[in-house]
Amino acid sequence: MDDLITVHHEMGHVQYFLQYKDQPVSFRDGANPGFHEAIGDVLALSVSTPSHLHSIGLLDKVEDNRESDINYLMSMALDKIAFLPFGYLMDQWRWKVFDGRIPEAEYNQQWWNLRLKYQGLCPPVPRSEGDFDAGAKFHIPANVPYFRYFVSFVIQFQFHEALCKAAGYNGPLHKCDIYKSTEAGKRLGMP
Ligand SMILES: [Zn+2]
Repeated sequence: MDDLITVHHEMGHVQYFLQYKDQPVSFRDGANPGFHEAIGDVLALSVSTPSHLHSIGLLDKVEDNRESDINYLMSMALDKIAFLPFGYLMDQWRWKVFDGRIPEAEYNQQWWNLRLKYQGLCPPVPRSEGDFDAGAKFHIPANVPYFRYFVSFVIQFQFHEALCKAAGYNGPLHKCDIYKSTEAGKRLGMP
């Protein structure tokens, strides 16, 4: 399931590239980096719905009751809401390293200070400056900016809502699937 969602995330980048490939050079990019991260996730929001998984033969039986709703929404919350404090602290740590507010001698301590402050998390075993836990997150050694994901996790739901409306969908947003909607596709591709 994680890989299915990741595939849609990455294909969202590719689809965005294709959409602006014939624009003048200065427009060949996302509106902001958060937009680029959001496009594929928007598609994944539809793809993840149990009714969609059923329609493409990946789920045998669709439960539709209060319990299945709560389970689905809790799972989404763990993905999308629990992520926000982490998405916020990654670049806080990095920018403080860049401008010297976090000196080299405190890299790991200050990482865990932010992890505790924003996520309420403590390391499961004692840590020291002999460890470099921030470096275990791909985007730190790969130098990929991270605040874009925080932005994406907010706007992807706004995009999803707009596309569901364009598709003529009426109902709770977490059950909306824009699969095969020409209107939603047009709206998504509109400059
Ligand atoms: Zn991405």
